Amino acid sequence: MRCFEKASGAHLNITKTKAIAIGGWETSRNDLGVEYHQTVKILGIHFRSTMEQTMHGNWTLQTARIKTNAKQAYIRELCPAQRIRYIHSILLATIWFTAHILPAPVKYTKQITTAILWFIWKGVIFRVPTATLQKPKHQGGWALHDVACKCRALLLKRIWIQSKTEQMITAALLSEWGIVDHPANPPIAGRIPKTTAYLIYYALDMAYIETPTLMETSKLFTRRLYSTIYEMDRAGSVTQEMRIVRRNPTVNWNRVWRNLHSSWVSEDRISTWYTVIHDIVPTKERLFAIHLTDTASCRQCGTPDTILHRLTECAQGTEIWEWTRHQMAMILRVDQRHIPSDWLLTPYFQVRPSQRQQAIMWILAHLV
Ligand SMILES: [Zn+2]
Repeated sequence: MRCFEKASGAHLNITKTKAIAIGGWETSRNDLGVEYHQTVKILGIHFRSTMEQTMHGNWTLQTARIKTNAKQAYIRELCPAQRIRYIHSILLATIWFTAHILPAPVKYTKQITTAILWFIWKGVIFRVPTATLQKPKHQGGWALHDVACKCRALLLKRIWIQSKTEQMITAALLSEWGIVDHPANPPIAGRIPKTTAYLIYYALDMAYIETPTLMETSKLFTRRLYSTIYEMDRAGSVTQEMRIVRRNPTVNWNRVWRNLHSSWVSEDRISTWYTVIHDIVPTKERLFAIHLTDTASCRQCGTPDTILHRLTECAQGTEIWEWTRHQMAMILRVDQRHIPSDWLLTPYFQVRPSQRQQAIMWILAHLV
């Protein structure tokens, strides 16, 4: 320290300096007179004496912060789509920085996922399964981030960059354990000490991931890391088709999702229509199936209470639907009998030109 002071001409301010005993450092000796601390915050990361403590300390703080923020934003009037946007841009924004540096233990990613799901659904009875919500939009999901997978992808990316930077401690450690370019497959993580847990994760995951080519940009590499880890996580588990797909396998679902997300209507209209298409509206029929009501019939007319019944058959619904159908028939210049009511539940149609398609989508979106 004295050498540093002599060479730099700077003087160490003891009162503003904190000391931290790393690993098995002996704290009884204190030659510089700098006070020892349990944690020291450097560039937003709370360092503790061991890697394990640093990891748990930081993730406990992050998880608590997300839970508090989700609670505060809970009462805001937002549709599910806006809630997911809020989660991605605000709630989770702070954890990606930590995820770059410290591995995220499952215990915390599970708690974070529970908090964001609670925030999205606000206690509704019928929900879209989380695995569906995490699918891309063109596959019937809403591209919700899988927190655990994204944390792992970001950490791998960071270590990979460091492994390529000369004179980095990480690069030296990786070369010491022989996992520089592409870790062996099957992984040989057993030899790496637990004190450098992040290298164990690296050796385990990177063994199955191709290193990026020169053509691949940094962003694309991160995306590939995420999607590979996501697929690896689900490997072996039975991937069930979505409930609506099983019920209506002949519908061109790709077109349904493409139509839905490319329609020129507000996000909350798309969001509402999405819940209608996924059939998660609490109709009597669905509530009766799980014994939450004593009848599956509509209270007004006694016929089975389904979404289609509510939209096109019951009370004012018939008139509104007939009028709307007439308007759409005029736009399309066809007989209104050619416009089936299932367009409301599965907008799979494709009409030309695109303005006409958008007009029909707009009308239907505002009807549901
Ligand atoms: Zn009715």
